[in-house]
Amino acid sequence: MRLGWLVGVVLGALLVLGHAQPVSYDGYQVWRITVDKPSQIAEIESLVHDVWMIRGRTVDVCLSPEEQERLRAAGYKGEVLISDLGALIRQQQTEFVPQENGLFTRYLTLDEIYTAMRQLANQYPELVQLLVIGRSVENRPIYALRLTRYPRRARVYPTRPQVVINALQHAREWISPPVALYFAYRLVSEYYTNVRVRDYLDNLEVYLVPVVNPDGYVFTHTTNRLWRKNRRYLGTFSGRQAYGVDLNRNWGYQWGGAGSSGNPFSETYRGSAPFSEPETYFLSRWLLSLPALRAHVDLHSYSQLILLPWGFTADAPPFYSVFERVGLAMQQQILGVHGQLYRVGSAAAILYVASGNMMDWVFGVRGALSITYELRDTGQYGFLLPPDQILPTCEEVYPALLELLRWARQRDWRE
Ligand SMILES: [Zn+2]
Repeated sequence: MRLGWLVGVVLGALLVLGHAQPVSYDGYQVWRITVDKPSQIAEIESLVHDVWMIRGRTVDVCLSPEEQERLRAAGYKGEVLISDLGALIRQQQTEFVPQENGLFTRYLTLDEIYTAMRQLANQYPELVQLLVIGRSVENRPIYALRLTRYPRRARVYPTRPQVVINALQHAREWISPPVALYFAYRLVSEYYTNVRVRDYLDNLEVYLVPVVNPDGYVFTHTTNRLWRKNRRYLGTFSGRQAYGVDLNRNWGYQWGGAGSSGNPFSETYRGSAPFSEPETYFLSRWLLSLPALRAHVDLHSYSQLILLPWGFTADAPPFYSVFERVGLAMQQQILGVHGQLYRVGSAAAILYVASGNMMDWVFGVRGALSITYELRDTGQYGFLLPPDQILPTCEEVYPALLELLRWARQRDWRE
């Protein structure tokens, strides 16, 4: 009896220690498969746990050695995008290139991002305020930066429409927080020299939420670089512990439809109910509290796309031509900085159907112009975008996000 108890404690301790060990991706590869028939996409999805990206008849998949065998046996061949995923992750963990513009030359930890946000608010109190808008499953704060002239003189200015830009619903998409953070830094540094920027911050409230999923982000640093969902413990099924809800399938507009999963082990698990997760619940309550939300961008990676509603259906939304006009203007701005092409189109049409996503809720429920970006690259590194591409990505997206502010100033829904 006593011995059994002791064995249990030792095994439990080993399990806990085992959990803290980083997940190894040795032997894993990322393949790009182009199929002849759309039905084959569903077959691949049934054979593989982690689908990185689906675009038309092209699928990028992350494969364990067993999954590579399984796909070969089923007759699929792929172009190898990443031949040694474990080595690439290790290489990026040891790569450290401090340069002058230090914040955007390497990927920051959660604490470093939060410190940078706090410093910006302390340094520019007449333009920036730091707010807590909610808390995560593991009780970490979710911070927003509020950028507007004299933010501390009013909780909200009724005459200044709000624009929200958020990042990192998906934990492994590391390029998205720096893009949001850079936007804040650049707006603040240009306020006194650029009349356009001054006009925006005098007449709009710009909110930036660089990390919607702080638990997931910490987990990608400590344990599993390729974690996507939040860190909700869902229960034990057939002896396996299931964790995580896909936050971008948990929003309460058209929740539960195609492109989301009811299986807790799936990377697109939608949760037990709309807004079952504190991250989406707090963010949605906060968005509902903004009196005049006009425009919104949700930052993701990868594929270089500007995605417009809807995500839950391929049918065109109201005002599609307005979305398209803004999207094409953003595309031109991005192209003009470093020559990178970001394709524009409805999410369901050019990517895949995904119900319960944030963009659909912000447009469908709040009536704000809402757009999803898939940032760099087009698949060479995917989620493992090298640090020397952080700053160029931030630089090219900056003028595209200014287009969003320009639209919010004019709010022209005419088609
Ligand atoms: Zn994403």
